[in-house]
Amino acid sequence: MADCIKINSMTRRESNLFTNPSPQEVLVSREDATVVDLERRNRDASRPNSVFVELEAANRRRGQRSEMTQVLTLLLASSECSLRCTMCDLWRNTLSEPTPAGALPEQIRFGLRYWREQTGRKSGGTIKLYNSGNFFDPRTTPSVDDDEFLRLCEPFDRVVVENHPLIGTRRLFEFGKRLRGKLEIAVGLESIAPRMLDRLNKRLRPGQFFQFAQQLKEASFDLRVFLIHGLPWLAPMESYAWTIASARFAAAAGARHISLLPCRTGNGFMDRLANEGIFRPPTRNQMQVVMDALENDSRFDHGPVLTLDTWGLEPEPIELNQSVPAKTKSDATQDA
Ligand code: SF4
Repeated sequence: MADCIKINSMTRRESNLFTNPSPQEVLVSREDATVVDLERRNRDASRPNSVFVELEAANRRRGQRSEMTQVLTLLLASSECSLRCTMCDLWRNTLSEPTPAGALPEQIRFGLRYWREQTGRKSGGTIKLYNSGNFFDPRTTPSVDDDEFLRLCEPFDRVVVENHPLIGTRRLFEFGKRLRGKLEIAVGLESIAPRMLDRLNKRLRPGQFFQFAQQLKEASFDLRVFLIHGLPWLAPMESYAWTIASARFAAAAGARHISLLPCRTGNGFMDRLANEGIFRPPTRNQMQVVMDALENDSRFDHGPVLTLDTWGLEPEPIELNQSVPAKTKSDATQDA
């Protein structure tokens, strides 16, 4: 076999093509995903993938305890996002057809019943509606359901949905104006490292993100930002520096909340890079180091809220006969 080494049905020479992967290449790589359990995938469009109630910091003042707010989180089952970001594994939680009209309101009603049973509350707090994609994309979220979404969200003071800044923005602003509570848009900025922008396939430039953030501010909507730490193609110190820079950029744009996620395998393409030795997921310790740096950065003394999403991290080692305090926080998000 010439001068190439065969790895996972692809050669090292071929793998050079993947330094700037196309959406098609990301799609083809799905067969290489190591953590795909399609048998257990939720195919029922009338049931959310997951529902839970958690507490989340509502604000941040250095040296002071944060006020906490109760959050009802629904991981909705909807159709797949139309983008193919290189590191995204959310397709594993999606329906195989366009989301039927009426399905998402049905899932939200299911979540509200759970919330009332668990908490005894009828109003107040935050609801997060995460749908493995963009809430204002008509394919994943039929717009005929908007009136019902608005009605179902009425009890909540804050409604958080995920959306790419270039998708469904007219609908987004219309929806936010009609909402009783405060609309908060969660955006996967991921990283502002220039070398990453094309490789991530996100189709989002920092300038576009910043402009969108200003529009949210003018409309009195809030902004939450997801950042990914430990991306492939960056050396550990570079990765650290870009995560700090990305968080500062998000804060300067007005983010109320920044949630840091570890880059993880499980979508196929990242598994392929891991098999080639190009990618190694960040360790819990590396995540904690960058979180500590952010928490001690005086730029963040008066916000935004900073959280670390621990999904995809290796389990924390537990020493026997010793209780271990939970040091990391979770923002229970499904955006990657
Ligand atoms: S990261 Fe967000 S925008 Fe990109 S493919 Fe996943 S859901 Fe879509």
